[in-house]
Amino acid sequence: MNRKYRKTIIAGNWKMHKTACETRTFAESLKHALPRTKRCSIVICVPFTNIPIAIKTLKDCRVAIAAQNMHWEESGAYTGEISAQMLVELGVKYVLIGHSERREYFAETDAIVNKKIHAALAAGLHPILCVGETEAQRELNLTDAHLNYQVQAALSGVSSEQIKNITIAYEPIWAIGTGKTATPEQAGEACATIRSILRSLYGAKLARQTTIQYGGSMNPENAKNLLSQSDVDGGLIGGASLKPENFLDIIFTANEYEESET
Ligand code: PEP
Repeated sequence: MNRKYRKTIIAGNWKMHKTACETRTFAESLKHALPRTKRCSIVICVPFTNIPIAIKTLKDCRVAIAAQNMHWEESGAYTGEISAQMLVELGVKYVLIGHSERREYFAETDAIVNKKIHAALAAGLHPILCVGETEAQRELNLTDAHLNYQVQAALSGVSSEQIKNITIAYEPIWAIGTGKTATPEQAGEACATIRSILRSLYGAKLARQTTIQYGGSMNPENAKNLLSQSDVDGGLIGGASLKPENFLDIIFTANEYEESET
């Protein structure tokens, strides 16, 4: 992490877990146990149906609520879809875009990801753009080329002003939900690669200011080492964000690290 230049964000991605009642219970536990120091931003990406209760229960604390997806059109005949404006009206601040599960199971292409990024920004949402390679791509030494392609495709047409409102999550697909974590060095190198892609697109200053998270089986045991990498500015956490004690443990780790750094 490098607090001097950019925000650290610890975000939980609940995927399709928890009902509204369970969300209230989780949010109550979280808010009573949060660290007093406000050194990292905390986000939870909840299912659509849990957004109102999450926002209500966490309204007085510094936990921002995110959606896990959205449609790129403002409105229209898209049965089952949710627009950015609908999320904004509820008080949602962030939205995951291009999570590998959306790409794999819902045929989300890079072109769709790009449209969603533009729609989220236009509505005032802060996208967390997910990118990452497959195991086969890593084995073939194609990680950097793939990241280069995915980041450029997702950010096509995004201006220097707009990039300030985007976070990138490096999520190697082989590490998501598998219990296989990237080594701190692999995570650090990939995040540094993404930063160098941003540098070539937007210049050194904006690249330095962009938060780049690591996601892929991060948990209370490995968080410290992953977050110790200078280009890893937080985590996008699936499984380990479902229990308040585990999620809090990672939040405290991020906080403590920053305290010892400054
Ligand atoms: C994720 O859903 O983005 C994720 C990283 O999941 P997990 O932590 O369970 O691998």
